[in-house]
Amino acid sequence: MRKLSILGVRVDNVSLEEIKNISLRLIAERRPSIFVSLGSLTVMLARKDPSYKELIDEAALVICDGAGVAGGLRYLVKEEIPRIPGVDLIPFFAKLSEERGCKIFLLGAKEEVITNAAVSIKKSFPNINICGYLNGYFDIIHCSAVISTIKRTAPDILLVGLGQPGQEKWLRDNLAELAVPVSIGIGGSFDVISGKLSRAPLVFRKLGLEWLFRMLLEPWRVRRNLALVGFFSLIIKNKFMGGKE
Ligand code: UDP
Repeated sequence: MRKLSILGVRVDNVSLEEIKNISLRLIAERRPSIFVSLGSLTVMLARKDPSYKELIDEAALVICDGAGVAGGLRYLVKEEIPRIPGVDLIPFFAKLSEERGCKIFLLGAKEEVITNAAVSIKKSFPNINICGYLNGYFDIIHCSAVISTIKRTAPDILLVGLGQPGQEKWLRDNLAELAVPVSIGIGGSFDVISGKLSRAPLVFRKLGLEWLFRMLLEPWRVRRNLALVGFFSLIIKNKFMGGKE
């Protein structure tokens, strides 16, 4: 694993094999930690919010989620890094659970979505150890009931789909109490796994256009995706102004 930076925000050059080894080590040590899945929008959020940027700096791992980040690094510093979309982390950790018996807790999305996601994951990975799941519609300040439910099941891995940046901030604020060795925000991935949202077809994925596909499914994302324009403008500005942030 090697720490890099894109537009001043940390991202790690890390392979799936390394993520597996780091996770197993953290689980063996019972050391509470946060992994961040970093896409172009995450970079833009971090640039505007120093406390979010600091959280990313201090994370145990920062995994490249999007084609924008991977392409930006290739363009700016000719560095190739693996792109591991958040939605692929679900089968990745499910397989780890099957192989090593790790306990996984799923938190986030609407009740029907998280229930269907749990059923669908269990169908694909019959030997997974899902120790619990809860929907993500709770009061993030007064959330002692949610925390005790999670703690009672003592997960090794906590997948949180509340959306960025709230999911990572919630994890940071409650990490010591949750005491989960591997916790990671996966945004709207439960919506995809449950079948509520379709995954982008392969051609969109290969071209790095998942964002366009999601925008077609959820037109209200247009405004949020304006931040992507900002991201690409900054990449180009950086390239030609000589700045290597
Ligand atoms: N969500 C939630 N609780 C909330 C708000 C949102 O569980 O209070 C869920 C929502 O149902 C969706 C996910 O968080 O499943 C957010 O997905 P989005 O794609 O907006 O997040 P991103 O992947 O962009 O971080």
